[in-house]
Amino acid sequence: MKVLVINSGSSSLKYQLYDMSQEKVLAKGLCERIGIDGVLKHKAGDKEQYVVNHTMKDHNDAIKLVMDILVSKEHGVIDSVSEIEACGHRVAHGGEYFTQSAIIDDKCLEAITDCIALAPLHNPAAVMGIKACQNVMGKDVKQVAVFDTAFHQTMPEKAFFYPVPYEMYEKYKVRKYGFHGTSHRFVAQRAAAMLGKPLEELKLITCHLGNGSSIAAVDGGRCVDTTMGFTPLDGLIMGTRTGSLDPAIVTFIMEKEGYSPKEMNDFVNKRSGLLGISQLSSDLREVEEAANQGNHKAQIALDILCYQIKRYIGSYIAAMGGVDGIVFTAGIGENSATVRAKSLEGLEKLGIAIDPEKNQVRGKEVNITREGFPVQVMIIPTNEEWVIAKDTVNLVG
Ligand code: ADP
Repeated sequence: MKVLVINSGSSSLKYQLYDMSQEKVLAKGLCERIGIDGVLKHKAGDKEQYVVNHTMKDHNDAIKLVMDILVSKEHGVIDSVSEIEACGHRVAHGGEYFTQSAIIDDKCLEAITDCIALAPLHNPAAVMGIKACQNVMGKDVKQVAVFDTAFHQTMPEKAFFYPVPYEMYEKYKVRKYGFHGTSHRFVAQRAAAMLGKPLEELKLITCHLGNGSSIAAVDGGRCVDTTMGFTPLDGLIMGTRTGSLDPAIVTFIMEKEGYSPKEMNDFVNKRSGLLGISQLSSDLREVEEAANQGNHKAQIALDILCYQIKRYIGSYIAAMGGVDGIVFTAGIGENSATVRAKSLEGLEKLGIAIDPEKNQVRGKEVNITREGFPVQVMIIPTNEEWVIAKDTVNLVG
């Protein structure tokens, strides 16, 4: 079965075509500058990337172009579009409607549209991507939505309520949702496979550390808490986002600097985090390099990140009454030996220690636990597209 995975942004659209009978990616690519002019970057198998400028006035044009390239003589991987049996879409926000992935029908699309209030930057793009696929591929090709929030819907009330008046939840659905759920679910399942134990018997802490970062406490396969909140701004310090703050700082800075709500939103989302503290870069590689050369602000940024990861891990051990495994994933988690080592430094009394030599790996699925320590520490590369393809097959097939 061939499945097309779509991750749609406001002016971009990423795609991967899977052959699920072989669990293999046949082709992948990216449409950029949709609605501006249009660039397609396409890679088929082991062939070199093909880049072409092509006007795309909307997501419909982008999907048409993707279909053309997938069947083209020179760069294609299939003979006919009809070989694609289903489409899986990444959808940022499923609110309280979705606890798992769902086949897209009118009701489902209505619910996704309803969640635009909660994810005004992301859900409209997902809706455009879904409608474009329906238009271009026809009603016979089943569409599936896979939500970033769904995995976290098992959190108990004490974890997802904020201490603001109850009516804020009733009126506006203000609560913790959590994000990166597809990634947390995937690495938790992989961790259980690596440990050779049923997921239902494990207490895991999964650390998805990238430009956006979140940690989840996964008890018996169910998420019981996570660091991102009502929006993906909460929790850990990130590339350009603050993470959790004393809320009074927001109004204080707005008053002092005369910022409007929109300006303040940009300030906390785009000008803060590693970039804001280091005053150098949102990219951890550059922050690490500068810290190594003695740059104090870069060192503070790195230290905040590692200290916060450690604190959240500690709090989730308490929340679950123990931990069997800790997983590092995404750009930073998979690649930064420094962050992994510093985040878990000094936790020997909790049964946690990593082997410094085993820790010198990048992007490989590997157990890096120090000999004799009970808590298993693992690096597991995430693969959200694969989960989307798999969920699509499970629902459609
Ligand atoms: P996104 O959230 O955009 O998907 P990624 O998961 O790709 O982000 O992670 C991007 C982050 O990973 C950046 O901060 C980048 O610096 C970091 N990163 C990538 N490779 C390395 C590396 N070798 N060492 C340290 N950090 C790395």
